Amino acid sequence: MASAAQALETIRAGLAMLAACDIDTSGAADLGDECTQIMRATGCLQLEAARRLRRFDAVGGPAADDCPSLAAWLGRRCRLRPWEARQLAVLSGRSHLLTDTLAAFADREIEFGDVSTIAEGIDRAADTMTDSWPPERVAQAAQPALLEAATTVTPGQLRKAATRIALTLDGETAERRRHQIDRQAFLNLGQGIDGIGVLSAEMGADDLAIVEKAIDAFAPSPNADLPRWQNLPGHRRLRGLVTACQIALNAAGRHGYRERGGAPVRVHVIACAATVDPEVPATQAPPGRTEYGTIVTAAQVREMIQRHDAGIHEILIDPDGSVVDRFAADGQPLNWGRTRRLFSSAQRDVYLALYAGCAAEGCDRPPAWADIDHKQPWAQGGRTDLDNGQPLCRWHNLQKQNRQDRAGPSHEKPPDRPGGDHPASDE
Ligand SMILES: [Zn+2]
Repeated sequence: MASAAQALETIRAGLAMLAACDIDTSGAADLGDECTQIMRATGCLQLEAARRLRRFDAVGGPAADDCPSLAAWLGRRCRLRPWEARQLAVLSGRSHLLTDTLAAFADREIEFGDVSTIAEGIDRAADTMTDSWPPERVAQAAQPALLEAATTVTPGQLRKAATRIALTLDGETAERRRHQIDRQAFLNLGQGIDGIGVLSAEMGADDLAIVEKAIDAFAPSPNADLPRWQNLPGHRRLRGLVTACQIALNAAGRHGYRERGGAPVRVHVIACAATVDPEVPATQAPPGRTEYGTIVTAAQVREMIQRHDAGIHEILIDPDGSVVDRFAADGQPLNWGRTRRLFSSAQRDVYLALYAGCAAEGCDRPPAWADIDHKQPWAQGGRTDLDNGQPLCRWHNLQKQNRQDRAGPSHEKPPDRPGGDHPASDE
């Protein structure tokens, strides 16, 4: 009967011999070979530990040592970092399911990291799959595919495949999860206090497939002449996304997309004259804003004008807040009286500059989602003049119409969802 104490003594003696070797005279090939063998031996030792840990856990070892779980015990007594402790605990807990994987390790077809990754994938799948998929069935179905992958892909790719194995094993689980994801899918868009723009999204795999392709197709290739930060994958992905959006905006008109009011789709930046005045240093000039309320510094506004096919429309405003201009830059009148009912896109541009959002009190819908409303209704003789218009979101516009029908003020707030964010003509 072998004794563990004896075996460990032999290992220590072997380690002492390894430490005594003179490695200064070894060639690279020998060193590399020795390192892979040492790593393999490390893996064998970990598996041996995992075998004992499973038994240790089964007989209540962690609890007897005042630890709530095996992973906690590994952290406290063996000083493993949290993810290492969890990995080893998972491996020990699932090792009895991994017959084929352990055989492949013994045959040197895969390494310890692969074993650990496969155990992790099977553990996660066993936790998430339906009752008709007990851990034994999961392990049996998952191992062939993961073992195949372990011999052909990188450790990182294997990890991705392993964490998603549940989706490939059982169509029912995958479909249920998919409907869940579709219902919860979202894209958040915001700006932090220091000006940083933040995007975060969760979406279904089919949508992700389109987004990742678009980003990759429009991302710049790595370029050795550029600084390192510009070549980082995350940075190039962002450039790809921005370029894809620029191209989409440029092509919007050809695909039937127009702004509300019918003008071509454009990025609007609203700023005062000093923001773009070359006499005023950019660092001292006031920032601009988009129609959605994103703050753009003066330096950025100036760069955007340089970089893009930008048009500047000046609007002169009297101290009393009224617009001085009678005509838009293209010579179109800004006051139409009773000669047209719908506000023109030139008039709309003026309202984008004058209003930060829907004109109803307390409403935070951006002007981009608003219709231009006749303050005095057209039906009651109201004119399509600048001073008779105001942006109202779809919800407040309907509120006003209902109020006119019933007569009586309303102080209700719009619902959380934007009332009208689809292109539509102004009323
Ligand atoms: Zn509103």
